[in-house]
Amino acid sequence: MKTKSGDFVLPGDALGVTEEFVPAEWTFEDQGKIRSLVAGTVTLDNKNKRISIIPKTNSPSILKNGLVVYGQISEVRGQRALMKIEGAKDTNRSLATNFSGGIHISQADKGYVAKLTDEFRIGDLVDARVTKVLGLDNVDLTTAENELGVIKAMCTNCRSFMKQVSKNEVICPDCGRKERRKISSKYEG
Ligand SMILES: [Zn+2]
Repeated sequence: MKTKSGDFVLPGDALGVTEEFVPAEWTFEDQGKIRSLVAGTVTLDNKNKRISIIPKTNSPSILKNGLVVYGQISEVRGQRALMKIEGAKDTNRSLATNFSGGIHISQADKGYVAKLTDEFRIGDLVDARVTKVLGLDNVDLTTAENELGVIKAMCTNCRSFMKQVSKNEVICPDCGRKERRKISSKYEG
């Protein structure tokens, strides 16, 4: 790894090691290595020991910290819910790759959460914010904001979308089942 300023790199290319450099814009850390998230040109700041990339395109359709994304819950297990990310909220672009995101139980809501299944269930449609890019197709997410969380809840009994009845409860119009959720202020229904 002898990256220098001006080098053209592709997504996933190794740029340096975290012992020597700090990963900055459009890079991510992967087991001690700094890799590029995008195709672009390397900028090496030797004074501040930062490696960043100037993307080849103006606004690459890729996830970065702070971005709000939407998708569907694919798994809720123990301390972590998994979400298949379908796109970013503030752009019409679709994502370059199929990202999946993890929501840790500590990031699901503002207060203490005893059971992650009181927050999300498989099939729910969710808005979440990216907190950390872990790799080319994997990010950490949070829903601990009022306008984040479930925007459509799917009944665990009959798979119908449910109606909101209170701040953290939804009801199924078909079977009458009531369930708890981390509901977004933008809930649809
Ligand atoms: Zn139902």
